[in-house]
Order: sequence, then structure tokens, then C-alpha cells
Amino acid sequence: MSSTPEITEAEVTNAVYDPFDLFTLFAEGSIADGDQEPAPALPVANPSPPTDARHPADVMHLHVPAAPTLRRIGNVAYFAAKGKAYRLRPASDGSYIAVSITTDERAAAGATMKATAAQVWHECGAGTDPAPPRVEHGQDHMGKPTAAVRGENEQSGLSLSIRREQFTTACPRCGGSGELKSYRRVNGGVCFRCEGDGIGMYYTIDEAVNAVYRLDIEARARADEKAIAAVRKKWRLETFDAAHPDLAELFAQATHLPEFAIEMRKLICKGRTLTECQLSTLRQMATEDRTRRATAAEREAERVAKVEASRPAGAEGETVSVTGKVTTRAEYSSGPDYRPRRKVRIVVDDEAGVQVIAFVSTRAAAGVRLGNRVTVTGSVADPTARDLVTLAIQSRLIRAKFTTT
Ligand SMILES: [Zn+2]
Repeated sequence: MSSTPEITEAEVTNAVYDPFDLFTLFAEGSIADGDQEPAPALPVANPSPPTDARHPADVMHLHVPAAPTLRRIGNVAYFAAKGKAYRLRPASDGSYIAVSITTDERAAAGATMKATAAQVWHECGAGTDPAPPRVEHGQDHMGKPTAAVRGENEQSGLSLSIRREQFTTACPRCGGSGELKSYRRVNGGVCFRCEGDGIGMYYTIDEAVNAVYRLDIEARARADEKAIAAVRKKWRLETFDAAHPDLAELFAQATHLPEFAIEMRKLICKGRTLTECQLSTLRQMATEDRTRRATAAEREAERVAKVEASRPAGAEGETVSVTGKVTTRAEYSSGPDYRPRRKVRIVVDDEAGVQVIAFVSTRAAAGVRLGNRVTVTGSVADPTARDLVTLAIQSRLIRAKFTTT
């Protein structure tokens, strides 16, 4: 269907997201040769290696700054180098010490904040320009010439390669087809953005080298920005918690945090001031949360007390009688599928530390109701079995007989 079958849908998708595809490189031969022919829009088949190959450094004009930018967060100056954040702490003699945020180790000391930051910047290599991208000429498996531009920077982890086949990116308006079917009444549907050639943009090799170099530097800056943003976010949350100690407890819990509280947390991270209405909703939530947790703690204390007080109903094989309340009565199916038998699981709790569990037939359980007081008599089969939920000892009885009291 497409008029340019060599551009697949996958490539069009890549063209939007893949930074490799943002550049189109011309065959350098066609540039060096001058204006004998109009420059082809697509890569030419036989590029000669560049004759006047300028060193990539000649065309680069971007450099990393000599010192990091100092950021004030709260009343403290921070900076980032190589993706790590540092705090500047004044020393007693008026000089400054740079301390790593992550390791809390002293990284450098200097007379001024700027000089201290610059020293860390210099020592960790953040002030060194990335190595110039390499241009590699080669051939693909079909013998067609290829070129790749690679920028390599261990710190940013960036390695870009632009192959000749990918130098042209599809026009984002028409997806590379050069025409728009829905506009075929207008000038035959020719795409106005690419004027029908389907090409989004292209760069020369020099421009691509510059772009790779720039991406490398930008990746460093982004990593530093991210480190500072994390510090700022942490500071905002801590400042908010200090100003609203009544809400700190609510926010401290990682689970069960209500949706609204999560949203408010995000706003605080962005540096927004919460309205009085939002704050009062949060306070109400904090109160509910305290009540809920107090109840849960009470219940947990009860459970622990019950587990500690629990003891076996008797020794294995001993016949015992337990009088208490039926706390569980659950029917279930047992036996093979072709002959299922209805059975009942019954737990009797004497509320003095003895619980027994019995698995009996529905007939044996007749008349036993949940909450009733009954006396159960049976032989202890497993004295130290435990309730899987509360973990209290729940001796298992066999041949259990119930009498309603
Ligand atoms: Zn187009």
C-alpha cells in the first residue's frame, strides 16, 4: 500500500523515539564535490571516503563548563558532578567542605564555595570534555557503504551510532509516504511538510558528529540535574513534615497510604503549597489513620496474648472433654469426586487457653451452631497443631462427639 515500501512502520515509530534517527547524513562525497548535481535526498550508493576530513574537534564548539552550577536548597548550597550530588558545608575557619550526599564522605575543601565545587568537578573528571565522536566508514553485508558516528562516554553511558540506512528520518506528518490520503483533493494529497519526498530531516556528517557530542554533554547535565532534583524533592518533603508533625505519621507509612495523600505528596515534591482545604482533609485522614492503627494494635495485642496463653488440650492419644464456644463451623467436601462427602470443620474455644479443632461428618455436627456453647469429647491426635491465621495452639481431636450445653 505504501508508496515507499522500504520504510516500515517500525522505522517510522523509531523515527519518533530513537535519537539515532534524528539525523540524516549525506554522503560526504556529494558535499565535497560541490554543486555539480543537486544533493540527493536519500543516501547515495557510492560515497567516497572524505577527502578533506576535518577532525571532529574542529567543528565542535560545545564544552562542559569549568565548574558546576551551585544550587541553593533551603539554606544549603549543593552541586552535582558526574551524576552525584554534593553538599557544601562551611568549616569553622570560613572555608568550605564538599560532602557527598550518598556516602557522606568529604570530597574536597576550598576557600570559597565555588572553588570547592570546582575542585570536585575537576577531580572526578566532570570538567573534562567527552572524547570526540568517531566517524567509522564500513560496508554492510551487501557490500553497501555505511558510516557510523559514535560518541563514547562511560559516565553518561552514551554510545550513538548512526548508520547510513538510518540517516533519513521519515516525515512525521505523512510517515514517509510523501502524501496524505485524506488531503488528496488538495494538490493531489502531496504532504506540505516534506513536499512529497517523505523525509523528515537530515544532517551532514559534521552536524551529526556535533549532535552526538552535544547529546553526550547533555546526558551528563541531565544526570547532574536528576541528582539535584532528588535532593530538592527530599528537602521539600522533610520541610513539609517538619512544619506538619501531625501529618508526618500519616505519610510515614509506605503501605495503605490513601490515593489523595499520594497526590498531595506529589504536589509537595513539586514545590507546591497545599491549600487549607487540602491540609484539613489530610488531617482528617491522619486522625482516621491513627484510630485505625490503634484498633489494629489492640487486636494484635489480643491475638498475641491468646497465642501466649494457648496450650494443648492434652497429650497425644488422651481422651479429653472441652467445653466452650464454637468459633468456627465450616462445611467442606472431602473424598473422591465421584463420591464426595460433606464434612464440617469445627473449632471450640474454652476461652481459657484451650482450643480444639475437629473434622467431623455433617451428622456428627448436627445441632452444633456457630457461637453456641458445646462440650466436645474426643481423642487428641495432634496436640500442638496451630491455627494458621492466629498461630494459637489448636489441638486436633479425632472421634469427636458434641453435646450442646
Ligand atoms: Zn511528509
